[in-house]
Amino acid sequence: MANDGGRVGGHRFDSTVLREYDVRGIVGKTLFEADARALGRAFAVCLAEAGGKRVAVGRDGRLSSPALEQALVQGLAESGIDVVRVGLGPTPMLYFAAYTLDVDGGIMVTGSHNPADYNGFKLVLRKKSFYGPEIQKLGKIAAAGAFRNGKGTVTDHPVLDDYVARIAADYDGKRPLTIAWDAGNGATGEALVKLTATLPGRHFLLNETIDGRFPAHHPDPTEAKNLVQLQAAVAERRADLGIAFDGDGDRIGVLDAQGRILWGDQLMTVLASDVIRERPGATIIADVKASQVLFDEIKRVGGTPLMWRTGHSIIKSKMAEIGAPLAGEMSGHIFYADRYYGYDDALYAAIRLIGILGRSPQSLAEMRDRLPAVVNTPELRFDCDDTRKFAVVDEVRARLKQASAEMVDIDGVRVRTKDGWWLLRASNTQAVLVARAEARDAAGLERLKQALVAELGRSGIAAPKF
Ligand SMILES: [Zn+2]
Repeated sequence: MANDGGRVGGHRFDSTVLREYDVRGIVGKTLFEADARALGRAFAVCLAEAGGKRVAVGRDGRLSSPALEQALVQGLAESGIDVVRVGLGPTPMLYFAAYTLDVDGGIMVTGSHNPADYNGFKLVLRKKSFYGPEIQKLGKIAAAGAFRNGKGTVTDHPVLDDYVARIAADYDGKRPLTIAWDAGNGATGEALVKLTATLPGRHFLLNETIDGRFPAHHPDPTEAKNLVQLQAAVAERRADLGIAFDGDGDRIGVLDAQGRILWGDQLMTVLASDVIRERPGATIIADVKASQVLFDEIKRVGGTPLMWRTGHSIIKSKMAEIGAPLAGEMSGHIFYADRYYGYDDALYAAIRLIGILGRSPQSLAEMRDRLPAVVNTPELRFDCDDTRKFAVVDEVRARLKQASAEMVDIDGVRVRTKDGWWLLRASNTQAVLVARAEARDAAGLERLKQALVAELGRSGIAAPKF
């Protein structure tokens, strides 16, 4: 039962809600206010175990967010936790509060880039992502009803202005730019209005009104169809670039002046060179889906590339562990620890990008065209049963090991051949397999695809359409 959190005993979350990196569900179907309250109560136990007492809570602009936030705050406070409500804004604003206020953790009420009827929670404990087994532990605490009772305080402490000022402080461009922005009616809207008001240049804002129904388009810049409106604005305004955000502002999408999309790994080539110039030899992290061009480029400009597992919580943890100043994912999560806090913040990534462009005689399009030409597939996703997906990858790995293939297997298998590379991995969050391939030319890409399809066939998986 998903809606029994009001009673004193145990509370069960819907089986789909406690995920690898966050808590997420469909409001009124798999996620209820009672879940938010139980989540607050269970997180309070983890917080107290870690010696914590105060937690920051923020929310995105979804229609269901105020009610879920209220229930969450109730659950925390009745468990003896002092709650600092930081208000409506993007997820990185909540991270900012968790890193800079006198609190021991943070919870963001957000459905990220998902459709309007979704919502959920992202959690931070002691400035670290709270994920994987920790999230499963919340379910166990709730099921057992092993809550603690107390009377915490609830205070309002909006941080939007401080957050925007902190980001604006790191703008270091010299040349004013013309920029088209698309907030997608997501939670970045108000922050974006305030931020662009502090910047030189001309700024054209699309969908900056926060509206949880997302009337213009889906707030997910990793899908090309969601960037069509921004492409038109870049052309119409003759903008130097276009910048888009996902629904909760932890992922960025970028267009050059010709309206061409720079995917996360292409954007990272630009951002990485800038950081490495200040920090020669620095380790820059990118996920296994990223182009070989990025890893080669990091090396070429004097940095140390590190390929790591996909997943924003995993990347953040690795960054903190090794002290890397910058990391990025193909999906548009960009993490700056250089001059910043090491979490994924799309507004901050935007400020650094326009600083770089505002100091460079080169345009973003020129920077992009200077990279070695490769042909690659986008991220290909195809259905595979949850019970089967990891086994398929294990089988492929075992066969490739037998054949002494050159591969990286930290997250699925990424196989290198003389043509380029192909990747097969199991999604941690969905019943899908993810593949990608990249070669120097079309004929090479065709050979890589064939190799991938053949491997899938050996494990009884029908070839996906490329
Ligand atoms: Zn997001």
